[in-house]
Amino acid sequence: MSFFNPVTMSRAPQPRLRVAAALWEELMHRLRERGGGVHESGAFLLGTGEGPQRAASSFVLYDDLDPNCLAEGYVRFDGRYYGRLWELCRRDSLSVVADVHTHPGGAGQSRSDKTHPMVSIPGHIALIVPNYAQTPVSAADVGVYVYRGRYRWGNYRGRRATIVLDIHTEELQIQ
Ligand SMILES: [Zn+2]
Repeated sequence: MSFFNPVTMSRAPQPRLRVAAALWEELMHRLRERGGGVHESGAFLLGTGEGPQRAASSFVLYDDLDPNCLAEGYVRFDGRYYGRLWELCRRDSLSVVADVHTHPGGAGQSRSDKTHPMVSIPGHIALIVPNYAQTPVSAADVGVYVYRGRYRWGNYRGRRATIVLDIHTEELQIQ
C-alpha cells in the first residue's frame, strides 16, 4: 500500500517566472540567429527573485560562455564554463532564474535533458523552445520543466505552461 499523498504534493509552491515581452522577443531572436535553423542553441536567464517567484532581466547565450557548446548540433555545455556564468551573476548581483534551449521539433524533454539539468537545484526551471525558435513562440508553445531533484521534473505544457512562464507587456512607469 502506498502512502503517497497528492494533496501534500500539490502544496509545493507554484513556480512562476516573469519575463517582459521585449526581453522574450530579444531572446527568441538571438536563439534563432545562433541556431540558424540547423542546430540547437540556448541561454541562461538571469534575474532576481526569492524561491518560486522569479523575474528575468537579462540572459547570456551558452555559446558566448562556451564557444564550442553548439558544435555537435545539440547543446553540450562544458562544465568548466560555469565559472564565467557565476562571475557574471556576482558582478550584476543576479542569479540564474531559468535555462532555455531550442529543439528541432517539439518541446518535449530528451533523455539527456532529464538526466543533465543545467542547474541541479530543486525548483530550477528549464524551458524548451520548439522548431529552433524559427516561428513566433508564445508561452503556450514552450515546454516548461521544473526540477524536483533526483532527475525528476514537473512538466507544464500548453495552458499550464502559461501559468509558470508569464511573458508580460510592461506597463508604462508614469511618475
Ligand atoms: Zn534538449
